[in-house]
Amino acid sequence: MLDILRRTIQEVNRAPDLPRALSIIVRCVKQAMVVDVCSVYLSDEERRQNVLLATDGYNPEAVGEVRMDFGRGLVGEVARREEPLNLDNAADHPAYVFASEIGEEHYHGFLGVPIVQHRKVLGVLVVRQHERRRFAEQEETFLFTLAAQLAGAITHATASGEIDRLLRETNETRYALSGVSGTPGAVIGKAHVVYPLANLDAIPDRPVEDVEAEIAEFRAAVGAVEHDMRMMSARMVDSLPAEDIALFDALILMLRSENLVEGTVDGVRAGNWAQGALRDTITEHIKAFEQMEDPYLRERASDVRDLGRRILENLQRSHPPSAEYTENTILVGEEVSASQLAEVPPRYLIGVVSARGSSASHVAILARALGIPAVMGVDALPVGKLEGQELAVDGYQARLFVRPSQTLREEFSRLQREEAELSEGLKKLIDLPSETSDGVAVPLYANTGLLTDITPSLRCGAQGVGLYRTEVPFLVRDRFPGEEEQRTIYRQVLEAFAPAPVTVRTLDIGGDKMLSYFPVVEDNPFLGWRGIRISLDHPEIFLTQVRAILRADVGLNNLQLLLPMISGVGELDAAIGLVKRAWEELQKEGEQVEYPPLGVMIEVPSVVYQIEALAQRVDFFSIGSNDLTQYLLAVDRNNAQVAELFDALHPAVLRAIRQVITQAHQVGKSVSVCGEMAGDPAAALLLLGMGIDSLSMSSASLLRVKWALRSFSCKQMQDLLDEAWLLEDAAAVRSLLHSSLVDAGLGGLVRAGR
Ligand code: PEP
Ligand code: MG
Repeated sequence: MLDILRRTIQEVNRAPDLPRALSIIVRCVKQAMVVDVCSVYLSDEERRQNVLLATDGYNPEAVGEVRMDFGRGLVGEVARREEPLNLDNAADHPAYVFASEIGEEHYHGFLGVPIVQHRKVLGVLVVRQHERRRFAEQEETFLFTLAAQLAGAITHATASGEIDRLLRETNETRYALSGVSGTPGAVIGKAHVVYPLANLDAIPDRPVEDVEAEIAEFRAAVGAVEHDMRMMSARMVDSLPAEDIALFDALILMLRSENLVEGTVDGVRAGNWAQGALRDTITEHIKAFEQMEDPYLRERASDVRDLGRRILENLQRSHPPSAEYTENTILVGEEVSASQLAEVPPRYLIGVVSARGSSASHVAILARALGIPAVMGVDALPVGKLEGQELAVDGYQARLFVRPSQTLREEFSRLQREEAELSEGLKKLIDLPSETSDGVAVPLYANTGLLTDITPSLRCGAQGVGLYRTEVPFLVRDRFPGEEEQRTIYRQVLEAFAPAPVTVRTLDIGGDKMLSYFPVVEDNPFLGWRGIRISLDHPEIFLTQVRAILRADVGLNNLQLLLPMISGVGELDAAIGLVKRAWEELQKEGEQVEYPPLGVMIEVPSVVYQIEALAQRVDFFSIGSNDLTQYLLAVDRNNAQVAELFDALHPAVLRAIRQVITQAHQVGKSVSVCGEMAGDPAAALLLLGMGIDSLSMSSASLLRVKWALRSFSCKQMQDLLDEAWLLEDAAAVRSLLHSSLVDAGLGGLVRAGR
């Protein structure tokens, strides 16, 4: 059964559209369970009906015709209760409704299970038997497991099918896909698909420019793989038995097979580039092997996959992924990474769309820093079909439209106009002091990472840098930058803001910030080798960096040094030891380096309870609300599936932050917040109510927060905090804050929030 399950799901996943996906499901289930009928009903939300969309066994003409209002009949009952229903005689059940179109009268046994995705019932999977038959528990769980696995595939097939249809149509059509979260803004531009190398499934379709050259390159790649195989076989000849060596011959034969090579060549002639055409032929081959009954032959599917990957690697070597970007680029990918984003020249990039990730992912943070709308966690994103397509990205509501209609364009223009008006209005605040309505000054700093962040940060009147993420310049390189190279980069930031303070955070790689040249493979990267842990295990990397940072500050003396991911005093002592060592070495070398104020990030929950001990060792604290939220709530900040649960306004997060502020103040240390929360005007009101000393955020958010800050008095913000303190969940806190902003005439800020 497991085998059937796996194969069915694989087949469904590859189906190009929903009707084909559904017909595979009903055929496979009917065969596997030896039943008389298998059908799928899907929910039509608009008409509030369950519709028969595929059947193997009932009258095929009933497909699309049989519609039952929500809650009606046995299918309605399964969907309503979100539970399986197993009956030996359907007609005996009180909810039973007779449907003549499908020849119902001939069937007795009934088993229906709901198809659920993200708490939503998408439809019902039903099997029927002529005889009275109560299905065995094993059969019930089989259908149940299949339905659970199919939900994702159905969502995906719906999207790809819709997009496929859409792409074939000549008229403009509006089609929307939803993500789980975004960064604010609305833009229309052209998709540029990015993908990981040597991953066939991730290769997008792309039109071929020179057919003959493309075919020649493909044949050369096949030749190179064949050559490698022969070399491997020759190397192994003494150490492997003859029958195992024969495997290489079999692979070479497969490689030369008419189907594989000519199939791909045909694909190129039909207009797809070699990588896309290869993806199609390899997928076809894998499918054919996987369907074979003979277990040995079925296993050959993995050989085909391996051959495909080898050819692809060769093709990519001679044809590296395009780094040519044009104006109005919208970066699209299965999992767009921070480094892929940083590679695009900022003048070209206007939007980001990723099938994975959430608004707390680093790529979204970078997008926000650049003022670029992003939609994250678009589960059903048909990445392979989108290259070069026109897309409309609505970061406010985390929606994406392929080939936007005229009406939609007008809606987007309106949003952009409103946004421009708000930004224009906010500009008046640039030179006004950053203080509450009763005159208490609270500095607002900028978060930076890319050198291109500097100008916007200065332009919006940031009073310094509260978080300089030094890993960003590491992410955009293909090797570790040397000490002098780093010094030059850091110097530019320190100089641009001097004499205002610049808080430089030491390298925080790991988690979702992987360096291509320093790969780390872990089961739980966010709980693994990250931030200071890597720096302490690699003192040579850390010392080089600290030396570069200290030298960059010579003569400016506006540096503050911040340590990420500290989880206890041991790590802090070790890191301080290394900082002192670097400083002493530089002094001995005759450099005029100052010992900078030292701070620690409060982002691992353990240190929330160690403020006093940490305060004896450092000068200031900076709360990393992104990670603090992730670790306190046990919600992976990068996982779209749980993005709804990621909320820094959760009462537990608020309590942790307040505790840090209170305790730090008791021992005379200052506290800042530099996570995304600081840039949310609503959340900022609460942080100010708690007495935060400064806030650091992306420059795109700074004037919005300033507007909120200047519109409320300290007393008003403390009252708001008192009121929020009584609320038990994040949604209630958010709605309280939003209504306070609206009441204060700051409704324009609410749309930009969550
Ligand atoms: C944070 O965790 O809140 C933070 C500012 O650091 P980063 O987002 O870079 O992990
Ligand atoms: Mg962090």
